[in-house]
Amino acid sequence: MAIASVNPATGETLKTFEPMGDAEVRARIGRAHDAFLAHRRTSFAERAERMRRAADLLDAERDEIARTMTAEMGKPLVQSRAEAAKCATTMRYYAEHAELFLAPELLPDPSVVKASKAMVRWQPLGVVLAVMPWNFPLWQVVRFAAPALMAGNTGLLKHSSNVPQTALYLEDLFGRAGFPEGCFQTLLIGSAEVEAVLRDPRVAAATLTGSEPAGRSVAAVAGDEIKKTVLELGGSDPYLVMPSADLDAAVATAVTGRTQNNGQSCIAAKRFLVHRDVYDAFAERFTERMRALKVGDPMDESTDIGPLATEQGRAEVEELVADAVASGATVLCGGGRPDGPGWFYPPTVLADLTTEMRIAQEEVFGPVASLYRVASAEEAVEVANATSFGLGSAAWTRDPAEQELFTAELEAGAVFVNGLVASSPQLPFGGVKRSGYGRELAALGIREFCNAKTVWIG
Ligand code: NAP
Repeated sequence: MAIASVNPATGETLKTFEPMGDAEVRARIGRAHDAFLAHRRTSFAERAERMRRAADLLDAERDEIARTMTAEMGKPLVQSRAEAAKCATTMRYYAEHAELFLAPELLPDPSVVKASKAMVRWQPLGVVLAVMPWNFPLWQVVRFAAPALMAGNTGLLKHSSNVPQTALYLEDLFGRAGFPEGCFQTLLIGSAEVEAVLRDPRVAAATLTGSEPAGRSVAAVAGDEIKKTVLELGGSDPYLVMPSADLDAAVATAVTGRTQNNGQSCIAAKRFLVHRDVYDAFAERFTERMRALKVGDPMDESTDIGPLATEQGRAEVEELVADAVASGATVLCGGGRPDGPGWFYPPTVLADLTTEMRIAQEEVFGPVASLYRVASAEEAVEVANATSFGLGSAAWTRDPAEQELFTAELEAGAVFVNGLVASSPQLPFGGVKRSGYGRELAALGIREFCNAKTVWIG
């Protein structure tokens, strides 16, 4: 895949980039390693000052970088701006909390291990390779980079080949914020070059956010090299609606959950499991609101849904919908691409689905909602868990017993009750099953790329 910015709203190639050669990549790994040796010894205060400067610069440049993101991957401009703002917030969050999260943990009574003092010291691992996706091109990177740099690690970013301008902006941003050369660099390379970077002895660990095949491939190499990985992979989040739910709120949030980011979010609600007592009302109101969304130019402030990011991505969505329809699904709205340029796909609602269909088993990365009618809370849990994914999940119910059932039994990295599944710097984020392992954000996130060193003093 060429490294290029191609406007998904028009199909026009905006800019192409020459991939970096082996020598350049090796030189960058060397700089990352050298930078680590000095950066790891800097104080939290120094790192925090730089991180806050990066946040200030990002705030000042929000509109410009938002336009770059929208031009490269098609999300509505309003959402690009919100993404940039969230990144700045997260940078400040780690600037403020890193020292506390990584403070030595003293054993209260060291005599039980026959020591005068015993503790865990959190120390950075070294150069971390970050393989990142295009869907939140700034956020996915910052939620890795802010804690990693604050912990004293250095980062090498291999971003998706379709967002090179955002990738280069990030290197430039951290450089201008005062992080020394080598602390955070972008590698303009294709996915085939990732293995060599990961096998380089100067690279300590890797984090990958992306699809299952990409995760499997990076984890296999890292496993072979015995290097730590964090994997944030795909999801097919369930969205449970029970009779006691506030139906208006459940419908409104369902629309946002399924269509934000043009339907291309790992934690988007994708499968809607609705109790039969409220199914018809939910289906009718939800379909009406999905149909009313405005699809169009993502640079237009009033647009709800822009194009899908790649031509291939749209083809995959079309294939899953066609397979479902051929197997008996009913299309309640949408379901076919519009005429004209760009990789647009309309908000689509499908009903009469069975768990055997491909769309029930695979991740649909576009604004396509699947409705399932269930007879009880227990059946909702069963259908929700009948997938290989386990990222987020949402449940709408005011019944405390159902809330307990769902939070206990849903196989997911997160359960949100009566709300939108979302990431925030204060809450750990990650998955189980084939959605990956490890956690980003909060205290757990910053510790993933640290050595929890046990110290025992006699
Ligand atoms: P992708 O095709 O897996 O690409 C993600 C990154 O991995 C890109 O940088 C890509 O580089 C690279 N890559 C692909 N195959 C690789 C391989 N065999 N070895 C090494 N690197 C490889 O995913 P995407 O289409 O960009 O993103 C969509 C997927 O990401 C969805 O499944 C979504 O659910 C998931 N996602 C998960 C989370 C989460 O937190 N769990 C968040 C966002 C997205 P190239 O671009 O050069 O191919």
